[in-house]
Amino acid sequence: MTSTLAAPGIGTTASPARALVCRACSARYPLVAQHACYECFGPLEVDYDLSALATVTREQIEAGPRNIWRYAALLPAGQDPATRVTLDPGFTPLVAADRLAAELGLTAPLWVKDDSANPTHSFKDRVVSVALTAARTLGFSRFACASTGNLANSVAAHAARVGAPSVVFIPSDLEQGKVVTTAVYGGDLVTIDGSYDDVNRLCGELVETDEFEDTAFVNVNVRPYYAEGSKTLGYEVAEQLGWRIPAQVVIPMASGELLTKIDKAFSELVEIGLVEAPAGGWRVFGAQSAGCNPIATALHAGSDIITPVKPTGIAKSLNIGDPAAGVYALEAVRRTDGWMEYADDDEIRAGVRLLSRTTGIFAETAGGVTVAVLRKLVESGKLDPTAETVVFNTGEGLKTLDAVAGQVGPTHRIKPSLRAARDAGLLG
Ligand SMILES: *Cc1c(COP(=O)(O)O)cnc(C)c1O
Ligand SMILES: [Zn+2]
Repeated sequence: MTSTLAAPGIGTTASPARALVCRACSARYPLVAQHACYECFGPLEVDYDLSALATVTREQIEAGPRNIWRYAALLPAGQDPATRVTLDPGFTPLVAADRLAAELGLTAPLWVKDDSANPTHSFKDRVVSVALTAARTLGFSRFACASTGNLANSVAAHAARVGAPSVVFIPSDLEQGKVVTTAVYGGDLVTIDGSYDDVNRLCGELVETDEFEDTAFVNVNVRPYYAEGSKTLGYEVAEQLGWRIPAQVVIPMASGELLTKIDKAFSELVEIGLVEAPAGGWRVFGAQSAGCNPIATALHAGSDIITPVKPTGIAKSLNIGDPAAGVYALEAVRRTDGWMEYADDDEIRAGVRLLSRTTGIFAETAGGVTVAVLRKLVESGKLDPTAETVVFNTGEGLKTLDAVAGQVGPTHRIKPSLRAARDAGLLG
């Protein structure tokens, strides 16, 4: 593919994106389908025309649709609605979690940003909408990904919405809830006997073949655009708080990309004058599972080097053993005086149940990781219980039912009579 996103003069509003820039050496490239730097192999990121971003006003955003496209003027693609490949995700609930706060000993407001409310029930709809919109503008006709489950689900659904072919690749040991919710959309679903990191490596090879020349892998060749979709979570939280940035955020990490982009969104909002930074700045906290904790381990060791691991454990959507954005997540957490922790499978199950019981939100295992880590951060004093905090629930409990199915169930079983109800103690 040789086309670029920059098409000045066409469409309604132009994209504010100007170039791809290397996160490691700052080399610049045109807005094409490329994810690694030719100079140093570092990852590429979208760079914007700050003066274009700075023209955006709160009123303009507030007048937009109640989905991620209200922030189109801050994204690399999709300014013209006709170009979008999308399920219109976003504007998910920001839920006040007073009882969870009380239970954990937080005295300042605690919020859960509930991204399980997206069309395919995870935050991945945000990144897929932006990636595939960019991909179609770049001329790709088939959509693909390497996935730990939720991404495959979202890519397959987006492809079905626009009638495009899709081929998604997942490890063969994923939860049935992730497999069925992907397969039902009818695209090709390839399970691979290996880890996510094996799947990702294979996709990196496939994307170089002639047969896949027409194919956008959302998290490989169009990864820079994909990653930008996560910024909308940061924008939304700020807008939903009345154009404020919370003092603390707790974010689950797989590749670490989501964490870096929520931080980037906050920085942009401040830089372009839409929001004032909170006094003392914001602090970013990262959450992993004990079965896959390479980023948190590096932080705890005071190291800049992330040693890949072979993932285990029930938080499968977070099981990336060689996290592409890990060093940038470390950088964001250190720069903002945050921290990272990890939780084992029992703590994850307890986290899922605690969140359900105190907020009415049933999260997948990734949400259990985040809540369990929030608890640890409060207990260790790393997180300030007197400062406003937002935790991100990124996925839906119905996709990982097995995680808690053995722990919860009916509390009573009775015959259909008043007497049986009385005998069971239901009448007090
Ligand atoms: C993919 C995913 C994440 C993390 O995404 P990264 O950007 O790779 O860190 C978090 N939660 C859920 C449910 C996911 O599917
Ligand atoms: Zn470089």
